[in-house]
Amino acid sequence: MKCPICKNNMVSILYGMPSSEAIEKAERQELFIGGCMIMNDNPKYHCYKCQKSFSKDLKSSIDENDDWIKTDVPQFLKSDDNKK
Ligand SMILES: [Zn+2]
Repeated sequence: MKCPICKNNMVSILYGMPSSEAIEKAERQELFIGGCMIMNDNPKYHCYKCQKSFSKDLKSSIDENDDWIKTDVPQFLKSDDNKK
């Protein structure tokens, strides 16, 4: 997942109690720990470079000129399509 601002790779945000493995990953900036607060419109991705988190709302606003929404389609759907 690429950041729409700096095009750096974003990491997914983990909510709830992080495991020790998750904390290690967060230290390597492989994921971002969002904490235990789970709200309706929690952001899904975090950019460590911009220090910003992004939610689905942003996704819909950039899908016109960016192709990252296409990568969101499950792979098995595409391969199933190819067989026909
Ligand atoms: Zn960024």
